[in-house]
Amino acid sequence: MQAQLAQDHLSGQIKQKAIELGFTACGIASATRLVSYEDRFNRWLDDGLHGSMAYMERNKEKRLDPRELMPGAKSVIVVAQNYVPETASKEQLKVSTYAYGKDYHYVIRDKLTLMIQYLHELVPGTESRGFTDSAPVLERAWAVEAGLGWTGKNACLIIPKKGSFFFLAEVITTMKLEPDIPFTRNHCGSCTNCMDACPTRAIISPGRIDARKCISYLTIEHKETIPHDIKKIGQGWIFGCDICQDVCPHNRFSTPANEPAFTPLNNMHQWPDDQWRNLEKSDFKKIFIKGSSAISRIKYEKLKSNMPD
Ligand code: SF4
Ligand code: SF4
Repeated sequence: MQAQLAQDHLSGQIKQKAIELGFTACGIASATRLVSYEDRFNRWLDDGLHGSMAYMERNKEKRLDPRELMPGAKSVIVVAQNYVPETASKEQLKVSTYAYGKDYHYVIRDKLTLMIQYLHELVPGTESRGFTDSAPVLERAWAVEAGLGWTGKNACLIIPKKGSFFFLAEVITTMKLEPDIPFTRNHCGSCTNCMDACPTRAIISPGRIDARKCISYLTIEHKETIPHDIKKIGQGWIFGCDICQDVCPHNRFSTPANEPAFTPLNNMHQWPDDQWRNLEKSDFKKIFIKGSSAISRIKYEKLKSNMPD
């Protein structure tokens, strides 16, 4: 009983710390194997829907079981960081809103470092590691397990009354914490807005995305030029794509992020199409220095080749 109370208390303190660090939500799951996701994940890989993201095939065991990633792991702390901008681009050429401000990998990594320091102070001798899109972790699955929300038909994590415009990050720890109840409801209901709005029909069934058709994957991860027919119907998205989130009714609850690091770099949310089209390589290198925006993760040539004719 006493141990239970101590775990409850620790979980509460950690969630409080997450809010102090500017995260919108925090949940906790037990570090066990993600048994119920195994078949779905394997089928997605077997059907080749991950395109050229060969890294998804590697470390499969680590993706499914955090104890393979970190021996002795007992809990997974999941945090969500809002990235909604004050205003989004109304121009023809668009980049995903998550890339307006500083590269989230750095912003979140700094916050996770503070969280891990805090965990070490709370329970000295424990070990904790932070992850944000940087290791084989099935982020959305962990967010559901940690009770944060459900996976929508657009495959995004949707947090009730908050929407889906969030970065997810995890701290895997050897601390034994009181877990939250996994989120078992699904509030998509009969809505199919995201599936209907996806211009390339990349959402092949609820929650199942064919990356090979997804503009987000094709404009960022895919190294080759985007097939002409897809570019033609890509609605001007040149880095990422927000369409299936923009049409989601749950995002009417979204509120602007209270994170100064996500202020748009060089006002890029207001760049007219000409500014993108006339962007020189020298300007690209000056503006998109490492960490300035997630856009700096792709090459100038790739960005240019993403632009429709
Ligand atoms: S990100 Fe764009 S292309 Fe990909 S599934 Fe969503 S709407 Fe379709
Ligand atoms: S648009 Fe509708 S179906 Fe798609 S994720 Fe949102 S609620 Fe679910």
